[in-house]
Amino acid sequence: GRILGNRYEIIEKIGGGGMALVYKAKCQLLNRYVAVKILRPEFTSDEEFITKFKRESQAAASLSHPNIVNIYDVGVDDHDIYYIVMEYVKGKTLKQIIKEHGPLNPEETINIGKQISLALHHAHSNHIVHRDIKPHNILMTDDGRVKVTDFGIARAVTSATVTNTGNVIGSVHYFSPEQARGGYTDEKSDIYSLGIVMYEMATGRLPFDGESPISIALKHIHEDVMPPTMINENIPKALEDIIMKSIQKDQAKRYGSTKEILEDLNQALKQPMGDFVKFDDD
Ligand code: ATP
Ligand code: MG
Ligand code: MG
Repeated sequence: GRILGNRYEIIEKIGGGGMALVYKAKCQLLNRYVAVKILRPEFTSDEEFITKFKRESQAAASLSHPNIVNIYDVGVDDHDIYYIVMEYVKGKTLKQIIKEHGPLNPEETINIGKQISLALHHAHSNHIVHRDIKPHNILMTDDGRVKVTDFGIARAVTSATVTNTGNVIGSVHYFSPEQARGGYTDEKSDIYSLGIVMYEMATGRLPFDGESPISIALKHIHEDVMPPTMINENIPKALEDIIMKSIQKDQAKRYGSTKEILEDLNQALKQPMGDFVKFDDD
């Protein structure tokens, strides 16, 4: 395959979104697999996208945590290809896992929720908000470890210019009400998105769906969520309470920090959960 930056041999495409393409590659110097994220060629002359792409690498590279995908290198090659080299995660995205298995059992939901919380706790402690927490961006290794990726729209919250540009980026299914309004977003926005992810793991469904991004955004702002136990009464009350407190529309009622979520998730693990049946017999 073609070689980027004199050392990364491209092997195969493994993913891609609106702005970038992701490839599995091999670092020839260190003889190991890596993932290389490349800014789509059509954007290489677009300053706005280049700036976003650089911000992504900087936000992610300032973090070092076992539950966050490690950044190894960045570069621009002769053909104006902007790339980010990162830890290669062999496994599946959480989205694929939910799609294939349906709802996860409560222990798994809590376990994965804890690992995402730990990743977010580290990011938030470093004043970085992810802003695009969703199952597609949660990579799962085959032995069940979580690696959060895609800090593509992450922001440093300490920056004096924390204003929202208003352009809708990220996935509206996981948007907090304040994000859906195009308003100020901070750590609590990530907590809401994590709550939606936990809801999806526990129930196998999204709380809100709709015809258009606008209709979904409006539901995040105005509509009540069906409590998880109404979908499946086997879901432990303690887990339901954590999910519902994470997705409170009013920020004042929502969890204030990932530390509080971690405490409650640990508490929930201590309570007997009984047998879990994936679906209620209607
Ligand atoms: P989005 O549309 O979600 O913003 P994106 O272009 O920002 O997409 P990523 O979310 O970083 O790209 O990655 C897209 C996909 O590539 C992931 O869902 C995953 O399947 C795969 N992927 C990303 N990073 C890695 C990695 N480090 N190791 C293995 N696979 C990865
Ligand atoms: Mg992504
Ligand atoms: Mg992205």
